[in-house]
Amino acid sequence: MMDPVKTRSEEGRPAEADTPEAFSSRSGVSLQSPATPAGAESRKPGRNLDTPPIPPPPPHLDDYQSVVGGADLDELRFLAQQLKGKSLKMVNSTAVGGGVAEMLNRLVPLLNELEVSTRWDVITGGNDFFEITKAFHNALHGSSYQLTRQAREIFLMYNEQNRQRMQFSEDVVVIHDPQPAALINARDSSHAHWVWRCHIDLSNPHPEVWEFLRPFVERYDAAVFSSQSFARQLPIPQYLFYPCIDPLSEKNRELEDSFVQKVCDDFGIDRRRPIVTQVSRFDRLKDPVGVVQAYRLAKKYVDCQLVLAGGGASDDPEGAVVLQEVKEAAGDDHDVFILDLPPWCALEINALQHASTLIVQKSIKEGFGLTVTEALWKGKPTIAGAVGGIPNQIIQKLTGALVHSVEGCAYQIRYLLTHPEFARQLGKNGREHVKENFLITTNVRRWLLLLRLLSQETTP
Ligand code: UDP
Repeated sequence: MMDPVKTRSEEGRPAEADTPEAFSSRSGVSLQSPATPAGAESRKPGRNLDTPPIPPPPPHLDDYQSVVGGADLDELRFLAQQLKGKSLKMVNSTAVGGGVAEMLNRLVPLLNELEVSTRWDVITGGNDFFEITKAFHNALHGSSYQLTRQAREIFLMYNEQNRQRMQFSEDVVVIHDPQPAALINARDSSHAHWVWRCHIDLSNPHPEVWEFLRPFVERYDAAVFSSQSFARQLPIPQYLFYPCIDPLSEKNRELEDSFVQKVCDDFGIDRRRPIVTQVSRFDRLKDPVGVVQAYRLAKKYVDCQLVLAGGGASDDPEGAVVLQEVKEAAGDDHDVFILDLPPWCALEINALQHASTLIVQKSIKEGFGLTVTEALWKGKPTIAGAVGGIPNQIIQKLTGALVHSVEGCAYQIRYLLTHPEFARQLGKNGREHVKENFLITTNVRRWLLLLRLLSQETTP
């Protein structure tokens, strides 16, 4: 029997689901590349989007000096000194797609470079499991849901299967999000400290689903949330870690303008006209249909094109259905570009964000919203739903615009497109805000501090 628990440690990138076939079959989203962008930079011309490229080697700590300065890096090395020889395991439910995988991809190699031995394991489950965990995810974000006995059993069965096949011999085990939360059942047979890292908005959870998960969460040594407002009444210590982006990743690094131009040309996007973009999985909570409606309203007054760039995550079976809804909403408008991209298109996403005049993230519910962080880092005027961790990033009229409705979003699109100087200033402030608070180096620092705290609990 195949081991369903795929692991990859030092390189920081689990192998599982990195193929087009695995992506298509698990996410239910087909790989319909609308064009075949030819990359400048490290990509060969004529690259086919259906083929995952070989990922570039992860950057080293020293490479960040040009972005954050030497003092910040010295601090990380100092904090890591006492942790040499300690081991850490990160566990989540998807190797590709979504913000958690994005962050782990960078965090794991950097911790290893600092000699905190870190591995990353991905749990596996059937479609029945991921359908239930997706429903849990939506319910924890406040949607209505009927929690059945069967759903509980399936959730527990897959967690148990993964528990039996995984080993927890590290000093600290970090479980990300609710999907693998019941792995805490392994704690009695491990010497590890257990941390639950919750990336989702728990401010208004479905009571029954939360009551089902809470007993698991309470058995951890600590919980980590992405925003003050997500914390719950729990008998364990709770910490605030802002999520982060990597300024040197393919998603966020500087690009040659010729590459940006090439990507736009290949998709048929006209850079001489305003471009409004939302990058997101095709998920109702990201409200892509609302974005189309807002664009329609704004377009009565200002010329613009709309780019909706998305894809599915391997733990999100709803993607194909939502994609279809978005296509129907867009109709035959030739200024709307719906790009269904596989998750290995970081350079293309980066280019689309760079090319954008405005970026929108009209989420109805959100964990933190890394797409907002990415947009602000690129100095783009950003309009986003005032939900989840987004208000931590967008300070109204200072680092961007917060909206609460389709009409509000339409108004801000129109306003910012007609006030470019104000828009430019928002983008500039946004980039500074990210530099101060939401880069990977700050996140590494927080993990090191937490690890030191936990290790002090065992070292008198
Ligand atoms: N993303 C991507 N391709 C897509 C859609 C999203 O690479 O087709 C990336 C996006 O750039 C961001 C992450 O996936 O880095 C999404 O994180 P976010 O916190 O915004 O949302 P989540 O998907 O985790 O709910």
